Amino acid sequence: MTTEQASSPFIRLFSRYLRDLGLPVTHQREAVAQVVIASDGHLSVDDIEGALRAGGERIGKATIYRTLDLLVRSRLVEEHDFGEGFKRYEHRLSNNPIHEHMICVECGTVTEFESNELYRVENRVRTEHGFLPVRRRLEIYGLCKDCQDAGVELTKEGLICPIEIA
Ligand SMILES: [Zn+2]
Ligand SMILES: [Zn+2]
Repeated sequence: MTTEQASSPFIRLFSRYLRDLGLPVTHQREAVAQVVIASDGHLSVDDIEGALRAGGERIGKATIYRTLDLLVRSRLVEEHDFGEGFKRYEHRLSNNPIHEHMICVECGTVTEFESNELYRVENRVRTEHGFLPVRRRLEIYGLCKDCQDAGVELTKEGLICPIEIA
């Protein structure tokens, strides 16, 4: 790891978080954090392991999982479950820290979008229910443009109401 990488604000914040918990700031933990901050995507553990290996780091999955857990608890990284059977990780220091996700059920592509409507929903929840929102999550599942263009069609599976059929 170069000095430039080690001094990035993200790594500094994570190192401080580890020290506050009394945990050692190890090269392995910094290397995992560096991979997550270097990506603007939504990384699986396999993605992270691959990027580490490509960078010449040999870090076991258990260490990657434990480090990701710490990154999530530090709130520097957000954990997503897009129903794939594994989690994805995204750092929260992007240009676009508040955004929602569209997930293609065919190819798994995750696309980000912003929703001003959701702010209005939060306001409505506040006024109608006296509820104070702190965070929210919207995931829309469907077919991306590329998959539609490639001729993929959504099946009606699960969309037919049995009462209507009877
Ligand atoms: Zn797709
Ligand atoms: Zn995202």
